[in-house]
Amino acid sequence: MGDDPASAIYVRTKTRKCEELGIGSEAFVLPATTPTEELLGRVGALNADDAVDGILVQLPLPDPIDTEAVLDRIDPRKDVDGLHPENVGRLVQGRPRFVPATPGGIMRMLDHHGIEIQGANAVIIGRSEIVGKPMASLLMHRHATITVCHSRTRDLPGVCRGADILVVAIGRAAMVTRDFVKPGAAVIDVGINRVSDRAHAEQILGAGADWAKFDERGYVVVGDVHPEVEEVAGALTPVPGGVGPLTIGMLMSNTLEAARLRAAARG
Ligand code: NAP
Repeated sequence: MGDDPASAIYVRTKTRKCEELGIGSEAFVLPATTPTEELLGRVGALNADDAVDGILVQLPLPDPIDTEAVLDRIDPRKDVDGLHPENVGRLVQGRPRFVPATPGGIMRMLDHHGIEIQGANAVIIGRSEIVGKPMASLLMHRHATITVCHSRTRDLPGVCRGADILVVAIGRAAMVTRDFVKPGAAVIDVGINRVSDRAHAEQILGAGADWAKFDERGYVVVGDVHPEVEEVAGALTPVPGGVGPLTIGMLMSNTLEAARLRAAARG
């Protein structure tokens, strides 16, 4: 809904991935002026449509829209983003139905790379509904010791230096520098930031980077973690790549799970 350019790219990527996997998908692109009531009506119609297994509302919604009301309206059995209060509650209780795709993907990534979670100190920067909070629940249920940081945290670098696993979801280009990171820590960079100021981009990527793409598009995409962190971290996810594509994969996996659950309920 609306004309957020990043949202448009995310929706296109998801639609393409559905096509690739043979999942039917339909995108409804609505003007920013659409009233909340109309959006609620659309969600209600998709809830009632038996041919639909998964519903996703691309966030952020434009300001006047009541985002909570819209997310609450999604049938929890079709809520593949896992943001309906029923699914959030299940996750917090350790009996998840749909795990939000980004933190779900991060858990898969940690396991795939054999990074020890049990007993680890895990620090998460960011407390969003879609990343920080569910990430904390997932890591806690796997017996990590959790610290959740945000804009009011005192001595953020000092707190982060205690982390064996550092998950960064802030939305500020290259904010996390090497002084935030304990040598050998696993650092997960969730941030996706467009930098269109060439001098700022050079500060982050160094003058020797490949600038052809920047010149072509007028921006580069960088994470919340400064590339210099690679020199101290034991593992670091790349941006672009890393968490982004995994998120799409987990969303597809949730959609398949929704179809299975609904098929099983039909008998
Ligand atoms: P968000 O809702 O934008 O919230 C940002 C969080 O960072 C807030 O909790 C905020 O604290 C905290 N924060 C902001 N400035 C800070 C500072 N100076 N020091 C410490 N904490 C600070 O977060 P989000 O939706 O999780 O998105 C975060 C980033 O991840 C964005 O770049 C987004 O594009 C990206 N993202 C990527 C994916 C993916 O698939 N890779 C998925 C989702 C999001 P307060 O709560 O105190 O305001």
